[in-house]
Amino acid sequence: MKERYGNIVDGREDFEGGFVTLRSPADGSPITEVVYADRGKTEEAIDAAAEAFGKWSRTTLHDRQELLLKLAERVQSRAEEYSLIETMNTGKTIRQSTMMDVPLGIEHIRYFATTKEFPSPREIEHPEFPGTKGIVQYAPVGVVGAIAPWNVPLLMAIWKTAPALLAGDTVVLKPSHHTPLTALELAMDSVEVGFPPGVLNALAGKGATVGQTLVSSPKVNLVSFTGSTATGEKLLSGSGGVKKFTLELGGKSPNVVFEDANIEKAVKGVMFGIYLNSGQLCESGSRLIVQSSIRDKFLSKLKGAMERMRAGNPLDMETDVSAITTEEQKRKIENMVEGGLNLGAHMYYQKPIAETVPKEGLYYSPSLLTDVPQSSELAREEVFGPVLVALEFDREDDAVAIANDSEYGLAAGVWSEDVQKAKRVASRMEAGTIWINDYHLLSAAAPRGGFKKSGIGRELGLEGVLELTQTRHIFVNEGSDIDEVAYGLILPD
Ligand code: NAD
Repeated sequence: MKERYGNIVDGREDFEGGFVTLRSPADGSPITEVVYADRGKTEEAIDAAAEAFGKWSRTTLHDRQELLLKLAERVQSRAEEYSLIETMNTGKTIRQSTMMDVPLGIEHIRYFATTKEFPSPREIEHPEFPGTKGIVQYAPVGVVGAIAPWNVPLLMAIWKTAPALLAGDTVVLKPSHHTPLTALELAMDSVEVGFPPGVLNALAGKGATVGQTLVSSPKVNLVSFTGSTATGEKLLSGSGGVKKFTLELGGKSPNVVFEDANIEKAVKGVMFGIYLNSGQLCESGSRLIVQSSIRDKFLSKLKGAMERMRAGNPLDMETDVSAITTEEQKRKIENMVEGGLNLGAHMYYQKPIAETVPKEGLYYSPSLLTDVPQSSELAREEVFGPVLVALEFDREDDAVAIANDSEYGLAAGVWSEDVQKAKRVASRMEAGTIWINDYHLLSAAAPRGGFKKSGIGRELGLEGVLELTQTRHIFVNEGSDIDEVAYGLILPD
């Protein structure tokens, strides 16, 4: 990790502005200093992206993919460093950074560097007008203002940039001011491997300055936002000019376990679903909905597995659950759980954090609660922490009704050895991603996004790339008389 980080603007690292110290969530120690961009610097980056768009949008798909491949190789060659920086900045376990976030990120850049799925221009017929043809093209949108949260900073930076660069867009990336480091590293690496100046810019800084400037700028053509539903709603009203929005927002995702599930697998899946990344994932399976006939047995096995889990120092390769990324988030988790307990919820089990962790660290014990009143905030709102609420059902229809009884609709899990039944249930889920007998698998080929208050639009997959393009239709008259196709208009000879 470098001692100081600047913003990446127009192909260079820019240190203009005051430095802010970033601290480790694991022990509170200073880890590095970073410059937060202000409105002026953000406008500079937007101008650089707008200027670069002219040439970049006319490069060939082949050239863009070649550069993406070089970027994947560059990140691969620095994978260990990226993992350590990600863990130091977020407090997530080094095991997760090393085995999941960084390798998956590299795979995802590679996916966009090699995919053959990018939609080619296609010819269409117009049945109403024989003798004419149409050409449908997928043009880049322009400058993308990409705004990201703090939970998976590198993956998020890759999801927001690789498909946009593939589509021929230029990007101003704004990672969270809490966790900007790997996004800044990625943008600098893009310059190192030959992306032209201005094509990918990255700015550390706050939502109220960098974020708002991106949203209100008439030169930004698309805002690709990932964050909380509350901020997403705010952005829609603060938009300057006509622009596209994609919003990847919060969730309160159900994990439904039927009595015919493979119980050992389901226990692991439910644990992974909620405690990965200390529950700070938008699609975390935060509502366990278990069939009444196996409820007691399932909860007792889950408790046994939680007892065996290791919670503590993120830099220990054996740790399963580690720190919360920000102090504000830790307080929010504490308050929501306390609110639920005050309303009568029962703390079924709370895994103690290792006593060896420093007092200055931001830790919250992985928790499992039962008897949570359905009307409470704890049962209905996103906690974004290692907190699982257990509910139960008797019949298949009830499972679907409870799962869908939420304003959110991001993801869901279904556990059953009867795959036909699981597919039937999955098809009734009001959610953008459903895993059957699994959880959290993230493929670059699979479109991600939410139903209801969980978002608008899709990220990744062909659908995600299409969001980053605009469709052009060219109407070609190949020899028909003009008066045969122009209807309603009498043309003089
Ligand atoms: P947040 O909404 O507070 O912030 C997200 C980003 O928006 C940050 O970069 C922030 O600086 C910026 N921002 C804040 N106010 C802004 C404004 N007025 N204008 C422009 N930008 C502004 O979210 P967070 O606390 O960083 O992240 C946690 C949330 O993100 C959770 O709700 C989680 O579910 C969600 N999330 C969603 C997905 C998904 O794919 N659906 C993935 C990860 C996280």
